[in-house]
Amino acid sequence: METHSQVVDRLRSSFRSGVTIPEQFRRTQLTKLMSMVKDNEEQILNALHNDLAKPKFEAILSEVVIVINELHHAIANFKSWMQPEYVSKNLATKLDDCFVKREPLGVVLIIGAWNYPLQLLILPMVAAIAAGNCIVVKPSEVSAATDSLIAELIPKYLSQDCYAVVSGGAEETKALLQNRFDHIFYTGSQTVARSILQAASVHLTPVTLELGGKCPCFIYGRVNIAAAARRLAWAKFFNAGQSCVAPDYVLCSLATRDALLPALREALEGFYSKEPQKCPDLSRIVSPRHWMRLMELLKKSSGKVVLGGESDQEDKYIAPTVLVDVSEDDSLMEEEIFGPILPILTVETLEEGIDFINRKEKPLAVYVFSDESSVVNTVLEKTSSGGFCSNDGIIHMTLPSLPFGGVGASGWGSYHGRWGFETFSHQRACMLRGWALERLNGLRYPPYSDEKLGW
Ligand code: NAD
Repeated sequence: METHSQVVDRLRSSFRSGVTIPEQFRRTQLTKLMSMVKDNEEQILNALHNDLAKPKFEAILSEVVIVINELHHAIANFKSWMQPEYVSKNLATKLDDCFVKREPLGVVLIIGAWNYPLQLLILPMVAAIAAGNCIVVKPSEVSAATDSLIAELIPKYLSQDCYAVVSGGAEETKALLQNRFDHIFYTGSQTVARSILQAASVHLTPVTLELGGKCPCFIYGRVNIAAAARRLAWAKFFNAGQSCVAPDYVLCSLATRDALLPALREALEGFYSKEPQKCPDLSRIVSPRHWMRLMELLKKSSGKVVLGGESDQEDKYIAPTVLVDVSEDDSLMEEEIFGPILPILTVETLEEGIDFINRKEKPLAVYVFSDESSVVNTVLEKTSSGGFCSNDGIIHMTLPSLPFGGVGASGWGSYHGRWGFETFSHQRACMLRGWALERLNGLRYPPYSDEKLGW
């Protein structure tokens, strides 16, 4: 059994050998990664079902298809991303070759979270492989079935000299972090991100942080309330609310709230029936510990449950739950909810809603639902967040052409598509000069006489 430092040393010597540099090597590994996902789709779906009771459709959409799309996009484009980018020049560099060269960083560490345990590891891996790095991946121990499947499959399909999986929880990760990496890509909570930064500071390792936060859904002005309720319910209760970009709370006027509630009831009954616990299309909470945290939040809340509220500890089940009369200092507003609980808070004006959003840390996404483009544009202009989507939720993160990441407390850096390739590359500024124009260059050598410079 290799120690962590032996794993890192082995990968580093592979990286130094230059094996990951050729385009063909990267292409082969990306193609093998595609085969890994396609050949083992059934096992992947079973593991995701074991971990979170993920409905098959949700697992295919948000884990398998998103990974396959990212792989197709990277395989089709990474050769062009690798090319030197020639830049504009001035008179003094007219005869030189001036370009940006994308270079791999070296041995990178990717730490995953449990809520989308396949996607959150494989998407950054696609970017890191395309950029020519060696990789240590650390899946989340909380999604144990997917963790062990990934640990079994990656060495079977990918180069063992260049890519390794290390499994384990907090203690294992802390020990792993004592090693020097050339980049750390972390997905998870803000609390743990602080220890990741501390560990990274010892080696001055650059870090990408994919974190969470409280994503608001602001419903304002004229709006198609039935469609709004369906899209909101879908985005919120997909994966039982355990999505970093799930709408965390709703902001709307009292009148909109009163129209929204029956529409939400209809949407939820339509999606999950009147007995959601028996519906196979609703995920479960990942662990008893996470279930307990959510039940505590619910218990402490002074809000009024108007939809759902039922739970079953044995089954790690919480019904899709909606609360009203929730104040800004309620327990549900203290931290990211990350579960199937949706508080609705009321604001009467556009400015009030914008002020409310801006009083909180910058979220991973801001959602605004409105038929009025002036409302959408005002919220877009006057707030800041990792991403933004009007009249829907979550869906903006499925496009590999858009960067995915936070801002401020919701995360640093981004990935997906070319954005991930850039994250795992160093942009090296290169100037290739010859010996021409030496007389002209002579102007810059001392002595700096006015006469020589013509001043
Ligand atoms: P987590 O921080 O508990 O765990 C994430 C990873 O960190 C796991 O691999 C875990 O083993 C490791 N870890 C846990 N404790 C550690 C410690 N003390 N030291 C070092 N490593 C440690 O997060 P989570 O509960 O798995 O995920 C939930 C959070 O992640 C939410 O805030 C959510 O919004 C966020 N999230 C963000 C994204 C994104 O892409 N921005 C995606 C998914 C989840």
